[in-house]
Amino acid sequence: MSHNFSKEYELARDAIGSNDLPTAGDLGQVVTKLRDLMAADGFVDTSADGLTRLRKHVKNFSLTKMFTGKNAGEADNILLAAGAFGADDKKFTGGEAIALKASALKLLRHTYFVAKTGAKSLWVISVPKSYKDWPSPELKPLASVELSLKARLSEVREYFSSSNKKHMHEGAIFALAWVQKALIVLGTAGTDKGESMALVKRWFETSDTTEADLAKVVTDLTDGFKKIQAALNGNRLILTDYPPDRGTSDEKNTEAFVWNGAWKDSLKVVYIEQGFFARGANVLSGRDNWARIIVHELSHSEVGTDDYPRDNSYAWQGINPAHAKFNGNKAITNAENWAYFAADCAAALSEGERSTALQMT
Ligand SMILES: [Zn+2]
Repeated sequence: MSHNFSKEYELARDAIGSNDLPTAGDLGQVVTKLRDLMAADGFVDTSADGLTRLRKHVKNFSLTKMFTGKNAGEADNILLAAGAFGADDKKFTGGEAIALKASALKLLRHTYFVAKTGAKSLWVISVPKSYKDWPSPELKPLASVELSLKARLSEVREYFSSSNKKHMHEGAIFALAWVQKALIVLGTAGTDKGESMALVKRWFETSDTTEADLAKVVTDLTDGFKKIQAALNGNRLILTDYPPDRGTSDEKNTEAFVWNGAWKDSLKVVYIEQGFFARGANVLSGRDNWARIIVHELSHSEVGTDDYPRDNSYAWQGINPAHAKFNGNKAITNAENWAYFAADCAAALSEGERSTALQMT
């Protein structure tokens, strides 16, 4: 049984915080950096260079690595750092505590701070492609078998490509711009000549929405978009795939998701699946679609929206609030209506895209 990313983070943070990790030499400095990096509520951007330092410490230049996606020297370095070899006899000692430290280092070795001058930053977790789970559950069963542990740790080919990372970041930057535009529109709803309220009505007015309901919609949207803005603005957002989904149809057909209920992440995590990068599979495409997905998911995690009604929760199914399915002011509970409203406020929708989204199927 796996767990969410926040749990994996917590395990890694405990392991990196354990007082039997080296304190001297280059590794000692790296460990200190990593401790600063991992705050209780997420990665700290001012200590992001800890990740670069860690990679420099464990990486081992090797030509074979480039062809095979494996690097044996790196596995040795991680195990050495985790204290897997006796100080006197240099013999391998495995066990759960060692495996947890190795897992933590492995997780961080594949964690990236994606930043660009003048833009907000985020964190991308890119666990090796061959893994079917987070490092800790992946390595736990192998904790006492040196060769197997090394084999898993030597896997360096990552899940997300560099263009994947760039696209996720572009999506987040766009999402923030959209949300800022949405907040400007909401700030003038009711005081301008009606253009702002027309946008609110287009995506949220149901046939039984009253003037009072509309005022409440504007308040709810303002509060909600402020929360989404804070998540995009805080340099704490984490994007990762969900390794147990790899190779399944969920991975292929899902764009992204967030956990709710008992599995809800304590950190700001959005899970990105292969559908995120697909071209031409949704109403919007490219950057607009990436931004739309991120706003949609953050409305779930930050505001508690739903995918409702079931058969008309996504734009490709039609999300026209004027349809009876949305009666009872239900459009405000649907994530996709939030995302399309933000896109529309930012003038990111073409005529065709807008009418497709409003066309009920
Ligand atoms: Zn959703």
